[in-house]
Amino acid sequence: MTLILGLEGTAWNLSAALVSEERVIHEAESTYKPLYGGIHPREAAQHHASELKNVVTQALRGAKKEGFSLNDIDAVAFSQGPGMGPCIRTVATAARALSISLKTPLIGVNHCIAHIEIGRWQCGTKDPVVLYVSGANSQVLAYRSGRYRILGETLDIGIGNALDKFARYLGLSHPGGPKIEELASKGTEYVYMPYVVKGMDLSFSGLTTSAKDAINHHKTEDVCYSLQETAFAMLTEVAERAMAHLWKDEMLLAGGVGANRRLQQMLQTMCHDRGAKFFVPENKYLKDNGTMIAYLGLLMFNSGETTPIEKSVVKPNYRPDEVEVTWRDKSK
Ligand code: AMP
Ligand code: MG
Repeated sequence: MTLILGLEGTAWNLSAALVSEERVIHEAESTYKPLYGGIHPREAAQHHASELKNVVTQALRGAKKEGFSLNDIDAVAFSQGPGMGPCIRTVATAARALSISLKTPLIGVNHCIAHIEIGRWQCGTKDPVVLYVSGANSQVLAYRSGRYRILGETLDIGIGNALDKFARYLGLSHPGGPKIEELASKGTEYVYMPYVVKGMDLSFSGLTTSAKDAINHHKTEDVCYSLQETAFAMLTEVAERAMAHLWKDEMLLAGGVGANRRLQQMLQTMCHDRGAKFFVPENKYLKDNGTMIAYLGLLMFNSGETTPIEKSVVKPNYRPDEVEVTWRDKSK
């Protein structure tokens, strides 16, 4: 049996988990909540630095209660990127220190791929088109010949950031996505918003500006409703085109914005109409979590991949298609 300790802390959620081939043994987390405004990278990193000991200790205590000891840990996996520089550097430093003191290998994990792999594992989908929608990222991906290929993506901000920015403008606290969802559910009238799809790519920043303008002339609920309808229709269009061109009949949703029920509904309708299956992991695996890092660490470890300390430098702009996927074809 392989046991991996995984550390996540690319943005606001710090999380540590122990995972084996059989199950998730324990996960502990601590979330940074900005007093005002959005996520401040340095403050979030300070939160992670002060909470790391607590969170890791909790995860290890949880594993001890299940009969595991420190000696059972085979490797320490951590989010190497993408993410906020100060945050990933803080967590990477802890991961290096743990790997040295436990005398186990280190495994640098791509955060986006961890979202995909935990979803595949949780939902049992084999070869889906993936819609990955989080605060900073919005991408459509699919696996082909040893890599997750990016088929389409945002050309500016992530959909989560677009929602959060508008929510901030309304005076709502972070994270704004769920609050916009709540307001949108009471909207009845569609207000025109710019629908920006360029080939397979998307743009959201103009949409946020447009929503800010619209608020002067329309009800807040209607503007939230229109913002969601427009942004989610854009995402659904690109996701559907990816499925059509690749002849794939499975779709997996990943990332924090995936918790939005209206987005899920639109994707479900699209998949139903084309006879495809739609998969959504539980909310706790949609948002950033240590379990997904430990789980991808496990897949990588079992296919012989570790990261020497000198190659463990963080990659704030780490793209999923930079990673050679060595674990998938074996497990097919
Ligand atoms: P992540 O970066 O994957 O942790 O996701 C965080 C993002 O998900 C933030 O931008 C949140 O506002 C967004 N989010 C979380 N829940 C929802 C929701 N129900 N609807 C829309 N966005 C959401
Ligand atoms: Mg994420």
